[in-house]
Amino acid sequence: MSILVYTESENGKFKKSALEVASYAKGIADQLNTQVVAVTVNAQDSSVLGNYGVDKVLEVKDDKLENFNAKAYADVLQQAAEQSSSKVIVISSSANAKYLAPLLSGGLKAGYASNVVALPESTEPFTVKRTAFSNKAFNSTEITSEVKIVGLANNAYGLKENSAAASAESFQPSFDEKDFDIQVSAVDKTTGKIAIADADIVVSGGRGLKGPENWHLIEDLAEVLGAATACSKPVSDMGWRPHSEHVGQTGKPVAANLYVAVGISGAIQHLAGVNASKVKLVINNDPEAPFFKAADYGVIGDAFKVVPELIEKLKEFKVNNA
Ligand code: FAD
Repeated sequence: MSILVYTESENGKFKKSALEVASYAKGIADQLNTQVVAVTVNAQDSSVLGNYGVDKVLEVKDDKLENFNAKAYADVLQQAAEQSSSKVIVISSSANAKYLAPLLSGGLKAGYASNVVALPESTEPFTVKRTAFSNKAFNSTEITSEVKIVGLANNAYGLKENSAAASAESFQPSFDEKDFDIQVSAVDKTTGKIAIADADIVVSGGRGLKGPENWHLIEDLAEVLGAATACSKPVSDMGWRPHSEHVGQTGKPVAANLYVAVGISGAIQHLAGVNASKVKLVINNDPEAPFFKAADYGVIGDAFKVVPELIEKLKEFKVNNA
């Protein structure tokens, strides 16, 4: 019995979340005294997975899988789980992984727990800690099925180096024609920008920025920090920023290591989507802004003064520490 982990890649390169789920799978493998088997799909160099505790890699290379297809990818994982007799399967919380999880769960008759934030509290019974109510609470969930699928919340466990000499072998699953009933015909990606889901740091702006003409403040701060940019809902509703940047309960969820909120009041619907971030820095000129209650660090001040100074100091810091 090994732990199977699905390590996602994009354009052949592993996503940060892939290394995190590998680290996490190694943690469970240690609890159960077993090994970690990773599945990769059209990834370039899987040897890096050994640095995060993976013992064996099943490499799938198939042009048909170039674009994500939930049915076909669920088939790949199901067959990999069966081949490696895995009873615990670890996936990330990416949008793709969340699509394939229910199909995989149906195929393997496995219980699936999403939004898991820590190693199992117990392996017998198999009990995991998960977030609930938009990250405002936790619950303990027992998975009683023989095969278990664990969906790890982004940035909940972190990357843990744990050297293993990962061996790689080619894995060729069989597909049903019906797997390809729905096919992606074209992909139009935003280039040169860090995706919110993959970002370690997110810099986000709200209505306090007064207008789209001031967004250079958010972009410049994001650039110096190597961060993704985001915004509150009204900002995208007013067309100051694209809807793809809207974060919160009705937008994208953020689980970054650092979330910087500039001119955002901290309404409950906004917090619901960003609360899972590890450290929250709030810049707001109203000391009563609700966001300060949820913040780890707060600067009470005018964004138009604070942000340029912050950018200047960060640039200086980078030069002095290059
Ligand atoms: P405001 O509430 O107007 O806050 C602006 C802030 O900027 C204020 O705190 C002000 O003090 C500060 N400010 C002003 N000038 C400056 C300055 N010069 N320097 C520094 N600070 C300054 N919202 C989301 O963001 N995401 C969601 O997913 C979402 N989903 C929703 C779903 C529903 C069903 C509903 C009803 C609402 C939802 N909302 C969502 C909207 C939410 O309730 C708030 O209205 C919204 O988050 C407020 O956006 P804001 O903080 O940018 O603007």
